[in-house]
Amino acid sequence: LTERLQGAISKLKRKGRVSETDVKEVMREIRLALLEADVNFQVVKDFVKKVRKRAVGAEVLESLTPAQQIVKIVNEELTKVMGSEVAEINKAPKIPTIIMMVGLQGAGKTTTAGKLALKLKKEQNARPLLIAGDIYRPAAVDQLKILGENIKVPVFSLGTDVSPVEIVRQGLEHAREKNNDYIIIDTAGRLQIDEKLMDELAQIKKLANPNEILLTVDAMTGQNAVDVAKGFNEQLDVTGVVLTKLDGDTRGGAALSIRAVTGKPIKFVGQGEKMTDLDIFYPDRMASRILGMGDMLTLIEKAQQDFDQKKALEVQSKMRENSFDFNDFIDQMEQLQKMGPMEDIIKMIPGMANNPALKNVKVDPKDIEHTKAVVYSMTAQEREDPDVLNPSRRRRIAAGSGRPIQEVNRMIKQFNQMKKMMSKVSKGNFSGMEGMFGK
Ligand code: GDP
Ligand code: MG
Repeated sequence: LTERLQGAISKLKRKGRVSETDVKEVMREIRLALLEADVNFQVVKDFVKKVRKRAVGAEVLESLTPAQQIVKIVNEELTKVMGSEVAEINKAPKIPTIIMMVGLQGAGKTTTAGKLALKLKKEQNARPLLIAGDIYRPAAVDQLKILGENIKVPVFSLGTDVSPVEIVRQGLEHAREKNNDYIIIDTAGRLQIDEKLMDELAQIKKLANPNEILLTVDAMTGQNAVDVAKGFNEQLDVTGVVLTKLDGDTRGGAALSIRAVTGKPIKFVGQGEKMTDLDIFYPDRMASRILGMGDMLTLIEKAQQDFDQKKALEVQSKMRENSFDFNDFIDQMEQLQKMGPMEDIIKMIPGMANNPALKNVKVDPKDIEHTKAVVYSMTAQEREDPDVLNPSRRRRIAAGSGRPIQEVNRMIKQFNQMKKMMSKVSKGNFSGMEGMFGK
C-alpha cells in the first residue's frame, strides 16, 4: 500500500501543476494508508478533511514540487495531531513524584514500570520505589520483584492477601521513610474494562493523588486501543499514555487515534522486552512511521534545507531549453554535495531505492573533485558553450587540470548524456534516468 501511495505521488510529480483532482487522488491513498496503519475511522476522516483543505490552497503551488508539498502537509498535520512537542513526566514540586500505571492485562504495565524506574535511575540519578499493587494475576508480585532485582530498584509488596489500596497506603509510607523521590505503582489489569477494576483504581488514585497516571496501551491492538483509551480516560482522567510493543510490525496508527480521541499526550514508547527498551515519544518520527515513508520525508527536509529554490527553478527551465552548461553543472554538483553522500541521496528518491541498476552504485567524492578540477580549467566560453570543445582545447584542459585526456573526454561525453537525459526528465520522461548516476 505504501507503494501505491508512492505511485500516486510519483504520478503527481511528473505533472507540472497540481489540480484538485490530483490532491483528491493522493488523499485517497493517504486515507487508505492510515486505515491500514489501524488508525480509527473517524480520526482518519477528520484528518483527511483537514489536510485536503490545506492542500488544495495556494501553498501547494509554490513549493519545490506539488507532490512533495502535499506529503509535507500530511506529515506536518499528522505530527500536530499527535502533539508537536515531546511530553515529559509531570514532576511533583516536592518529592516524591507519584506515578500510577494503569491499563489492560498484558498491555505492559509491569514491564514499563520497571523500565521507567531504570530510566529515572540512570538519567536522573533517582531513587525510585516500585509498589506491587497487582494481587490478582498469578505471580504478578514475583514478576515485579524479579524485575526490581535486575535493575536494582526496591520493590514494596505485601503479598497477595492484602487489598491493593492498603498496599499502596503502606507503600507510600514506606517511601516517605526511605526518602524515595519517585514512586511507581503497578496495578492490576483485566482483559476488558470492568466496573470493579475501575473502582479499585479510582480508590488508589484518590489515596495516592498521583502526579502522573500513565495509561499503558499495546500498540498491536490497533482499533481496540481507542475504546480502551477512551474508557480509562473517562474513568480516571489519565495524564499520559505509554504505547508498548512498537518493536512489532505495527505501523503505530494507535498513537494517532489515542491522541485524537483522548487529547492526552503519548509520553513514552516501549520498543522491546528488555528493561532498556523504553524511549521518549517523538511525534514527528511516529508520523513518518504511520505513513511508512520516512525516507522520502528526510529527502524533502534535506532538499529544503540545502537547495536554493530559485536556482533550482532556473536550472529546470534551462534543462527544458536544453541550455544547461558547465556552470550549471558545477552548481548542481555543489548543491548535491551539500545534501550528503550521493549514494544516500539516490536511494531516497522514491522508486530508486530498489532499482537493481543502482544497488551497488558508489560515488567517490574524489571523482567529484576531479570533475570539478576539469571544469575549472575551462575558459568561460567553453563552460557556456561546450560545443566548442575541440581536441586541442581538450588537451589544454587536461594539462591544466592535471587529469588524463581520456578522463576529460569521458567527462564531456557524460555531460552531454546527462544534458540529454535532463531535458527528457524535465519533460516528464524518467526512463533511462539510472544512467545519470552510473559510471
Ligand atoms: P501487564 O499485564 O500490563 O503488567 O503486562 P506485562 O508488563 O506483564 O507485559 C506483558 C508481556 O508483554 C510481557 O511478556 C512483556 O515482556 C511484554 N512486553 C511489554 N512491553 C513490551 C514491549 O515494548 N515490546 C515487547 N516486544 N514486549 C513487551
Ligand atoms: Mg502486570
